[in-house]
Amino acid sequence: MRQIFRGGQAWSPGRGLFQGLLIEDGRIIAVGDDALYQSADEVIDLGESFLMPSFGDGHAHPIFAGREAAGPKVNGLQNVNEIQEAVRIFAQANPETPWIIGGAYEAAIISGGDFDAHWLDEIVSDRPVVLHAVDHHTIWVNSKALEIAGITSATTDPAGGSIARRADGSPKGTLREPEAFALILDYSPKNSIESDVRAIKYACQQYLKSGVTYANDSWLEEGMAEAYLAAVKSGDLTIDMNISFLANPGEWKKNLSKIESLVSEFEPYKEQVNAKSVKFLGDGALSSGTAALLQPYDDQPGFSGLKIWEDAELFAAVKEFDARGFQIHIHAIGDAAIRQALDAFEYMQNHNSSWDRRPVLVHAQLISPEDMPRIAALGVIANMQPLWMYLDPMNKELILPRIGEARNNQQYQLRTLVDSGARIAFGSDWPVTSEVPLEALFVPVTRLGASGGAPWNPEQAITVEESLTFYTAAVAYQNFRENEIGKLEVGFKADFVVLDKSPFKSSDVKISSVYKSGLNQRV
Ligand SMILES: [Zn+2]
Repeated sequence: MRQIFRGGQAWSPGRGLFQGLLIEDGRIIAVGDDALYQSADEVIDLGESFLMPSFGDGHAHPIFAGREAAGPKVNGLQNVNEIQEAVRIFAQANPETPWIIGGAYEAAIISGGDFDAHWLDEIVSDRPVVLHAVDHHTIWVNSKALEIAGITSATTDPAGGSIARRADGSPKGTLREPEAFALILDYSPKNSIESDVRAIKYACQQYLKSGVTYANDSWLEEGMAEAYLAAVKSGDLTIDMNISFLANPGEWKKNLSKIESLVSEFEPYKEQVNAKSVKFLGDGALSSGTAALLQPYDDQPGFSGLKIWEDAELFAAVKEFDARGFQIHIHAIGDAAIRQALDAFEYMQNHNSSWDRRPVLVHAQLISPEDMPRIAALGVIANMQPLWMYLDPMNKELILPRIGEARNNQQYQLRTLVDSGARIAFGSDWPVTSEVPLEALFVPVTRLGASGGAPWNPEQAITVEESLTFYTAAVAYQNFRENEIGKLEVGFKADFVVLDKSPFKSSDVKISSVYKSGLNQRV
């Protein structure tokens, strides 16, 4: 079936605005004037609409998002009563669910972010409840969960994690970082491949509705690669995916051969799934006071956060995976973690032979001025989260008191980075924040959230065209797919979206339709 799109406006990175697109069997056959006067089975007049490449999500956790969606819905609730009510509704509707696990609550609604187990006990006391905070570096649990895990005043904080406590030393109900979550979640029922395939299916449906046709799963724990294999075989994986295995200190070496054998299982599906990247967690998050800083936190004298890896082990692991052809992604939020990640990239480049490696610095949130030029110089892609680039409640209530005004304002220096020649790609970090690109697209342009107000550091703003490019061609490049997707060019996949109007003229744009090659219908 040959279809011509004409009228309206079309846009593609590097090409700019044009009219005319001819597609056939999921491929782009002609672009611009070449497309307008050919024969076709269907001619679609775009009217006032705007056609552009579909969006890519360069950093996200779709399985976690799908798992979370299966629990109580507490996203966006603005007080503890509302969260209690959502948990109550879920508990009543699911009396057989042995553990109630969900998210993601807004931690900034409580000063300091320490939520009390007793507030959940009022609703559910006979089975464990675990809620993830929106930053996903924090959980809030009820007393039953603490009891099952045997966490008492005698329990010491695990390395890399922390347990919030009452004045008498007993656990309050809030735990920070995965090392601490594990104390509790290790007792919860394991996710099955079947339940994770359902999570993948849900995530794909959400993505397609939002105009996203390729994404990253940036943190695969045990069993999750097997779920992606099952989903690609069953047809439940309906978007393209780049998956990153997780490398942990002390464990990465013994997991190497398992990871390589999983990679080979994806070989027959490589058109749809890239499985050749590894994710390292460099630090925690500023909101939970666990990002690694060059200078101490203002609210914890002498404490500069947590580096998850010792330099020597990180450098060795990064070098080993790079030598085996894996793309390296490092989560780094604080300026000390960013410096460590850049040092690791530099070490790997100095010690391994050169190849088209495209290392990814994920979040790149608080960059020391000294390190700013190193990102471009090392050929690193800074994967940043556009929806975070305004003075949101998390920055105001949780981060500002921890790091002070000067460092708070030093976050998300996107304009400076772009001007330094660094490559940028966007990602949502879903379920940390919304997976919907149209909710995020204008935030780095206006440096404002949905509720308006005064722009945050407006000198760091970028253009609409830059924002669109970082969400399309730049993600395709990060995923080594820049010759297939992310642009509207001859031979590329016909993966594109139609918006109701031009984002160059209005920020109030909506998705009209989504085209994904390989799917038989428009979404
Ligand atoms: Zn993430």
